[in-house]
Amino acid sequence: MANFVVTGARSGIGAATTRRLAEAGNTVVGVDIADVDVTADLSTAEGRAAAVAAVTEACGGIVHGVVCCAGLGSLSPHPGGKMVAVNYYGAVDFLTGLRPALGRAGSASAVVISSSSTTTQPGIPEDLVTACLEGTEDEATALGESLGALLAYPATKLALAWWVRREAVQANWIGEGIRLNAIAPGMIDTPMTSGADVNPDLAKALDYYPVPMGRRGRPEEIAAVADFLLGPGSSLLCGSVLFADGGTDAVCRPTDWPAAWTPSNEELARLFS
Ligand code: NAD
Repeated sequence: MANFVVTGARSGIGAATTRRLAEAGNTVVGVDIADVDVTADLSTAEGRAAAVAAVTEACGGIVHGVVCCAGLGSLSPHPGGKMVAVNYYGAVDFLTGLRPALGRAGSASAVVISSSSTTTQPGIPEDLVTACLEGTEDEATALGESLGALLAYPATKLALAWWVRREAVQANWIGEGIRLNAIAPGMIDTPMTSGADVNPDLAKALDYYPVPMGRRGRPEEIAAVADFLLGPGSSLLCGSVLFADGGTDAVCRPTDWPAAWTPSNEELARLFS
């Protein structure tokens, strides 16, 4: 059986994933701000470093899989800067810190939870996406703070998906036997979409979210996708972003991707030489 780590383990998708992995007989170390094995605040660099150290010790230095679920929702009262700190850096920094322990497994899998808002929420501020991917954490959180939660949320999730695609193919991830992939859930029925701190006026807008399947997803359905990405059935997946959204992305963006590719000669030379 494997050593797995789940962040955001005390609620919603993280709790469902923890349950599923534990019921299959795995050792699962949960990370969250309270009520779990490793209590840590993933919004700070110190909290992430402490979480990496505690998780590594709890797993005897070898981690076979990680699912990064910790996140703050855009309908909550949290400021945009905090959203950047938890949703983007709380996953990216944490995973980067765990890379040695994942590498020691020989074959490992890391999963981040992005969002279907990346392709279906209009007006994502691309400067925040760029700041996450290329700037410093201070710059990105300051920009997130000025934009507010509603705009910062999908930007953090788009940055996360692009980070996965950029990093998954590198020698220090797939070259070390660590597969890195993302899940983009649609609207899932968890405290993030129906909890006490969700703004009731903004929550009404969710009733108009286009879901061809006609219902919200269940956290257990995302846990099943995470389980698949951790397991041997997904051994060829590297840098993939799996949409699990009841058809929302397909109905909003039917022909945007897969997209035809017209690379420059330089790009072709770089890739195929
Ligand atoms: P949730 O609110 O039920 O769970 C989020 C968890 O993250 C909570 O347990 C919370 O304590 C933890 N967390 C928040 N801040 C933290 C911090 N600073 N340090 C450590 N842990 C912290 O929400 P959920 O719906 O289960 O969301 C899980 C993930 O899925 C999130 O990343 C979310 O953005 C993503 N997602 C959710 C939906 C949805 O509709 N629910 C859709 C797309 C993506």
